[in-house]
Amino acid sequence: MAAKVSNQGRLNAIFAEPKINAMFKKGTKLNSTVKMKCPRCQEGDLFDDKNPYNPKTTLVMNETCSNCGLRFNIEAGFFYGAMYVSYALTVAISVAVYVTAHLFFEPTVSQSLIAIFIALLLMGPVVFRLSRALWLNLFVKYNPEARGEKP
Ligand SMILES: [Zn+2]
Repeated sequence: MAAKVSNQGRLNAIFAEPKINAMFKKGTKLNSTVKMKCPRCQEGDLFDDKNPYNPKTTLVMNETCSNCGLRFNIEAGFFYGAMYVSYALTVAISVAVYVTAHLFFEPTVSQSLIAIFIALLLMGPVVFRLSRALWLNLFVKYNPEARGEKP
């Protein structure tokens, strides 16, 4: 009986909050992706250094989750697949920059390409990390009780 009440209380709390908060609740893929957390327990960090623009640690990813022990590189070459995500993000950014540039200016083709190039260069470290987080989230379910290297 007590458990039922607390579940109801939790549900009420979720629906009382603005939708955007519920979207980022612990246990959602969005929470794990945006905060760069382990997709299984959402406690351990994928990257120790939170700043993606530190050139020494931009590409340094933790091997396992410090909280649940999940091995992030699930199998050899697992993160090659993140390149597809990275490609999709790159196209999305390029289109966004192109459309924005044409809304506010009248750039030539070469000016558009330079703007896209600069935007992609600046977003590079974020795209790299985000694509790995998204890719990992496609394959690992939220399961806070699970322990061990296998997902
Ligand atoms: Zn974990």
